[in-house]
Amino acid sequence: MNALAATSRNFKQAAKLLGLDSKLEKSLLIPFREIKVECTIPKDDGTLASYVGFRVQHDNARGPMKGGIRYHHEVDPDEVNALAQLMTWKTAVANIPYGGAKGGIGCSPGDLSISELERLTRVFTQKIHDLIGIHTDIPAPDMGTNSQTMAWILDEYSKFHGYSPAVVTGKPVDLGGSLGRDAATGRGVLFATEALLAEHDKGIAGQRFIIQGFGNVGSWAAQLINEAGGKVIAISDVTGAVKNVNGLDIAQLVKHSAENRGIKGFNGGDAIDPNSLLTEECDVLIPAALGGILSKKGVLILPDILANSGRVTVSYFEWVQNIQGFMWDEEKVNAELRTYMTRAFGDVKEMCRSHNCDLRMGAFTLGVNRVARATVLRGWEA
Ligand code: GLU
Repeated sequence: MNALAATSRNFKQAAKLLGLDSKLEKSLLIPFREIKVECTIPKDDGTLASYVGFRVQHDNARGPMKGGIRYHHEVDPDEVNALAQLMTWKTAVANIPYGGAKGGIGCSPGDLSISELERLTRVFTQKIHDLIGIHTDIPAPDMGTNSQTMAWILDEYSKFHGYSPAVVTGKPVDLGGSLGRDAATGRGVLFATEALLAEHDKGIAGQRFIIQGFGNVGSWAAQLINEAGGKVIAISDVTGAVKNVNGLDIAQLVKHSAENRGIKGFNGGDAIDPNSLLTEECDVLIPAALGGILSKKGVLILPDILANSGRVTVSYFEWVQNIQGFMWDEEKVNAELRTYMTRAFGDVKEMCRSHNCDLRMGAFTLGVNRVARATVLRGWEA
């Protein structure tokens, strides 16, 4: 199921459980603003090339809109729209004072040189600089973009508006990025998993984990779960899946994946069909890849909207530090992240109890309810 279909299905189910007014339900789905720009740059060989850039700003009832910018050849407006909406629910689940947005440029970043990527990022920023801002919309890295991309956006934006580090998050630490950011996604998963297991009077140690996805979220989650004594027995990514019932050597897998652009060919386990990953026996399943809807009998499943919220939560801490002009040490970042993740899990659990639903729906009802309440309080029908 694609991201759009999965998101709207989850949203509709949550709206029904919450008994939302149908007009409010409809209005929550309509994006605040959809931006489409043509970004034309000279290539290194002197020819001109044009790329389409998008930014969908979905909702700002709870605060400035927030979300990543991805560079990918398959970026399309429908998908960006769905992902922007997902950010609205995700920031609400995390209870950070943001709405949701997402952006992207349809390009193959691997085929562009560093200077072409810089020119493209600067042209994109020139076209949207009036529509983003510290209290409006705060971009961050996503697929195909990184801290360097954010540094270019910050620099270009600052030419128009003065030096404004809080306009993007996920920056290099030298430019006001937060300590603890790189591991934040995985650490968020770890804290949420601890909270999930604690509900069942269990700890990480000795449990068998399957992780779907081995990008930033999945690889950090695997390392931290492994360090905490958990046994990661199967992992998949876009290139394949690998299984070892005695526990995968995560450090070796990280190394292999970096050298081979994926986990395919890793000899520290058996290659398995990625589609069969979800049928393998385990205690906890962690979806760290995009999109799908999962359910599996007898296995604890961390909902991805909660699992992945560690990154945007540390983005919030970065923004707070920039606005305060005061840098936190890594211990403080990690301790605050633990507080936010544990609280978010507890809030999700509460929704599960009051609405008699599973964790995934608990997360969606929590997010949608918070946004709906803020929308009504602000007066949406006037
Ligand atoms: N793109 C990331 C996400 O989807 C990060 C967003 C952010 O930090 O603003 O959660």
